[in-house]
Amino acid sequence: MLNKKEDYHIHCNYNDHSAINLSVENIIKKANDLHLQTIAFTEHVRRTSEWTEKYLQEIEYFKNTTNIKILKGFEAKILPDGSIDCPETYLSREYFLIASFHTKYQDKYNWYNALLKAIRNESVNVIGHLAPDPEISLTDHEIKILGEEISSNNKIVELNAKYKRPPIEFIKIFKNLSVQFHLGSDAHSIEEIGNFDRINDLINFIEHCGE
Ligand SMILES: [Zn+2]
Ligand SMILES: [Zn+2]
Repeated sequence: MLNKKEDYHIHCNYNDHSAINLSVENIIKKANDLHLQTIAFTEHVRRTSEWTEKYLQEIEYFKNTTNIKILKGFEAKILPDGSIDCPETYLSREYFLIASFHTKYQDKYNWYNALLKAIRNESVNVIGHLAPDPEISLTDHEIKILGEEISSNNKIVELNAKYKRPPIEFIKIFKNLSVQFHLGSDAHSIEEIGNFDRINDLINFIEHCGE
């Protein structure tokens, strides 16, 4: 079951493109107001990021001010070779890691193979806003293989409210393969936290169709 009181994808003002008031403290306040049960801090990281320790300490500090379950983590880019753009230190089970595509891929098989490698990566928990570039189309069989790999590697597929992903044809096939889903607002502002209105159709499809 999808739980709208859990938001597994929230950014904060450690990057340069989120709202300035999107501080760790304000995120927790908002989550309290919304009576959320679980939130994941998943700031954009790169191998070269230098703010990470401060960010983690800040979360650790404010974690004790609330009963909400708080996950400390990152969203990191899937690189063309299938590796994850995240400092080695955080590639461990201790941190909640979303792997996402953030660059355009011209070549379908490069994209597909990078994705398979990310799915098989033990440090990755979630595949974020999964969808191929518009130029790339996958056969049902190719989507099925992805779903089987996701299931057997115990990865979660995020239903992303910012990008309204994954596409419904992926969800249909994944659902039949018992892939696990959860919700991520991908909030870059306070108002977006815990707001999944934009993907009500995807949520309804998972919960009510094709039983
Ligand atoms: Zn992303
Ligand atoms: Zn994001």
